[in-house]
Amino acid sequence: IINSLYRNKEIFLRELISNSSDALDKIRLLSLTDDAALAATDELSIKVKVDKENNVLHVTDTGIGMTKADLIKNLGTIAKSGTSDFFEQMSKASSEDSVSDLIGQFGVGFYSAFLIADKVVVTSKHNNDSQHIWESDSESFSVVADPRGDTLGRGTTVSLYLKEEASDYLENSTVKGLIEKYSQFINFPIYLWSEKT
Ligand code: ADP
Ligand code: MG
Repeated sequence: IINSLYRNKEIFLRELISNSSDALDKIRLLSLTDDAALAATDELSIKVKVDKENNVLHVTDTGIGMTKADLIKNLGTIAKSGTSDFFEQMSKASSEDSVSDLIGQFGVGFYSAFLIADKVVVTSKHNNDSQHIWESDSESFSVVADPRGDTLGRGTTVSLYLKEEASDYLENSTVKGLIEKYSQFINFPIYLWSEKT
């Protein structure tokens, strides 16, 4: 069971990139009827960055972003509802197949981040609001205005504070492999930051 959980954990990156892709689709669609939609930036991309020093993996997109109300509505309520059910059933799952079924059935999406992170911070800038920070340890969440201001221009950064046992995802080679495996059908460029040495 440990093995099957471990092997399925990596779907978190597919889920985050698919959310970024959805958000990019939305701003692109909006830009067809709203000239100002891409005013902050006309870049439409996904960037993944590993921060080894701080054990954090960041996924940033220039998609539609989320207002404060969106952050509470779209991410906040999941923390309260299905997640604990999912994790409870996940811990009881007896085979690789049943874990895969559970993942499909619950459509884990964003919350799969908590398979590998004990804290998730989402920083987001939507055209209709100032930048806000949503933070959760999976049990409760907070949303605050970002004291740094609107640093993103437009879009979202999901920052995963990795669990100790998930340090594999701090390796660029691992992350690159996952991007190649899960994101071949994403219609936006995906960049993986690499440090100059
Ligand atoms: P789903 O993608 O099936 O709707 P998720 O759990 O993956 O469910 O995501 C929940 C919601 O959070 C999304 O529907 C979307 O509204 C919002 N969201 C998540 N990630 C992003 C993102 N990168 N940019 C904008 N909105 C996002
Ligand atoms: Mg999703």
